[in-house]
Amino acid sequence: GRSRRGVSRIKMVVRSGVVSVAPILTKLQSECATPLPVLRRVADEMTADMRAGLSVEGGGDLKMILSYVDSLPSGNEKGLFYALDLGGTNFRVLRVQLGGKEERVIATEFEQVSIPQELMSGTSEELFDFIVSGLAKFTQQEGENFHLSPGRKREIGFTFSFPVKQTSIDSGILIKWTKGFAVSGTAGKDVVACLNEAMKRQGLDMQVSALVNDAVGTFAGAKYWDDDVMVGVILGTGTNACYVERMDSIPKLHGSFSPSGRTIINTEWGAFSKGLPLTVFDRDMDAASINPGEQIFEKTIAGMYLGEIVRRVLLKMAEEGAFGSCVPEKLFTPFILRTQDLCAMQKDNTDDLQAVGSILYDVAGVESNLNSRKLVVEVCDTIVKRGGRLAGAGIVGILQKMEQDSEGLIFGKRTVVAMDGGLYEHYPQYRRYIQDAVTELLGTETSQNVIIEHSKDGSGIGAALLAATNSKYGHDY
Ligand code: BGC
Ligand code: MG
Repeated sequence: GRSRRGVSRIKMVVRSGVVSVAPILTKLQSECATPLPVLRRVADEMTADMRAGLSVEGGGDLKMILSYVDSLPSGNEKGLFYALDLGGTNFRVLRVQLGGKEERVIATEFEQVSIPQELMSGTSEELFDFIVSGLAKFTQQEGENFHLSPGRKREIGFTFSFPVKQTSIDSGILIKWTKGFAVSGTAGKDVVACLNEAMKRQGLDMQVSALVNDAVGTFAGAKYWDDDVMVGVILGTGTNACYVERMDSIPKLHGSFSPSGRTIINTEWGAFSKGLPLTVFDRDMDAASINPGEQIFEKTIAGMYLGEIVRRVLLKMAEEGAFGSCVPEKLFTPFILRTQDLCAMQKDNTDDLQAVGSILYDVAGVESNLNSRKLVVEVCDTIVKRGGRLAGAGIVGILQKMEQDSEGLIFGKRTVVAMDGGLYEHYPQYRRYIQDAVTELLGTETSQNVIIEHSKDGSGIGAALLAATNSKYGHDY
């Protein structure tokens, strides 16, 4: 049994925890609050920044990048196409056999590998060699369901999930890395050229026909099945959105045309920064990041960062005595707490919050009691709620811009937002908070016309489809 001293010490910790730590939570909740006026302001600033970025290059936080995707997959595409997807945490290769209007997608196969940590801060050659060797291995395993038309090279849609200044549908220059990547020698270079050089080094003879952002890939993949898709959003390790824009609404183009009169704009909304409710924890995290001052919206709402914000809050609570008299060593380690851990803790519905207790202990070395576990869950919910609701406001910002320019063509009919990314897919509370914000901003009736649809792995298939639409061999189908 416990000694009297032991028991009373535990009681004291509990008491001091409750007394000195609850105010941290209260302050956090009020600083992270996103009542309707805050959401409204963020949506309006998003709309204004979109217009600024369309007017002149560098006009606002949002780069509003031309995707050069101005014809979309029609469904008639036929043949074998590959996709390469380099994103936040994983690298995927995929092939698809397209069968035209009737048969659509006849067969697909894919493989996924996680990107070794050291490659994220190595050299450009190392990273592209790694990608190409994965692609080469995958290509060798092409099964009997896949048929390359005679006289053709295998064509690739390259999904590259970082800000790229597109120079054509199949070329573009990396502006900067995001999401913890710090690979040397790629920024300022054409990433398709980097890929081609690596293929040459390894004797792989394939052809890149489309370079696409993952938001654009998701959009194209979803549009293939559903014509009401107007916006593509990624909420995963990082975040971004793209949408359909009219060529004559892009002043910085000075009157260029596309046959359809429309194009897809990659907003790069992760760089948005206006009107966001931020805390000292956000500012400290930003200052310590590899890209301080950049990607502020992303750092507030995306999967790479939510866990880290919570870790910083917990560290502060620990210093105030919330988890006993000493601060666990592990809690000092940046990014030790992942967004998946927050999600697992919020899932715990046992009376004594067992799972919360063991995650806290296993991941961060934190010893907790029921009271402190409850506080931790509240902290997670506060950060996740702010993230989800701000993401919802961002979506409304895009939709209301489109509505303003088209009078009724967005809110007056069914409009689909195609969504992909692990954060959206796996975090039910986050998903609900997005929907809450959309509903609050648009009202119940209008928001019923806005359908947020999960388009799982849409960016891979989407890139392959765009390779088909933009095939070097034209369309003989
Ligand atoms: C990148 C975007 C990308 C998004 C989602 C951001 O960090 O800047 O290009 O679409 O992450 O993957
Ligand atoms: Mg991805």
